[in-house]
Amino acid sequence: MSSDNTNVLGIDIGGTKIAVCITDAKGNILASDRIASGAAAPYEEALPQVVYLAQALIKKAGLKHDDISGCGICAPGPLDMAGGRIMKSPNMSWDAVPIRDDLVAGLSMPVFMDNDANAGVLAEWFFGCAKGKTDVIYLTMSTGVGGGIVAGGKLLAGTTGIAGELGHIVLDPNGPLCGCGQLGCLEAFCGGRSVALQLQDKLRFRPDHAMYRLPDVQGKLENLNFQAVREGAKLGIPLAVEMWNEICLRLAQGIGICMVTFNPQMIVLGTAAFYAGDFMLQPVLAQLPRFAWKEFRDSCEVCITGLGPKVGELAGASVALNGLYEAGKITL
Ligand SMILES: [Zn+2]
Repeated sequence: MSSDNTNVLGIDIGGTKIAVCITDAKGNILASDRIASGAAAPYEEALPQVVYLAQALIKKAGLKHDDISGCGICAPGPLDMAGGRIMKSPNMSWDAVPIRDDLVAGLSMPVFMDNDANAGVLAEWFFGCAKGKTDVIYLTMSTGVGGGIVAGGKLLAGTTGIAGELGHIVLDPNGPLCGCGQLGCLEAFCGGRSVALQLQDKLRFRPDHAMYRLPDVQGKLENLNFQAVREGAKLGIPLAVEMWNEICLRLAQGIGICMVTFNPQMIVLGTAAFYAGDFMLQPVLAQLPRFAWKEFRDSCEVCITGLGPKVGELAGASVALNGLYEAGKITL
């Protein structure tokens, strides 16, 4: 079976919503809806709602159960890949829930699962700027920094399924504290949550600082976030410029490690780069020669996601398609 007449069900689990959609193999969304309570609601309540919504959307797309080849779940980590379970995380009330088996039972179709960073690289690979390539790395750049790696035409899973945690490569063992407990991870330098905490620490007792007068900050400490650093740097506020330069330098260091380790054709940067554009990409490229040989740089395109926020919509579907591809049920 080729992928031409393949339709899949995608389920994207988040702390504030669960998005369910039906797509074809080209990423066209045939029907979609969301459950607003997300994974904040108890699992026992959410699961039947997901099954009910999935069945309703199959009908709404004008399809029958047998027209859907499989289902993909995209969830924030940590995941127990072998057991198909979503483990406890800060933004979710769920704890070690066996969602894969429960959905196999509820939907009577193959169900695959993966984390959002792996789903991100799959979405770029199937539908985005990395289509047709064999060696691609994706870095999510939002509250945290996640990584997904396609190497030799296959998603790299690793021995326990958690390969690609590129945000937790330690760049400086004496660096800032990361949410994971290590010091100096890529995420501790470049992740939205971490950058916001560092900025707030610097300015907690300096209410007269120019950063507080940025339009989106409105004088509030809690609004001193990653976006504030970006906007402050654009305006030339020295503290923001210094932080932005460090973010770009550390991102270049992380990208250099990826290039030297995996020799990819393409490295795709996610959300924060999507919003910053060349203001982030150009300084990163300028620093890259410090971290990777010309041979690596010449064979690798560093680019910003073309899917943008759509990555999230296609995440579950990408996981489903990859599961079917790895099972030999579809071709690319
Ligand atoms: Zn870390």
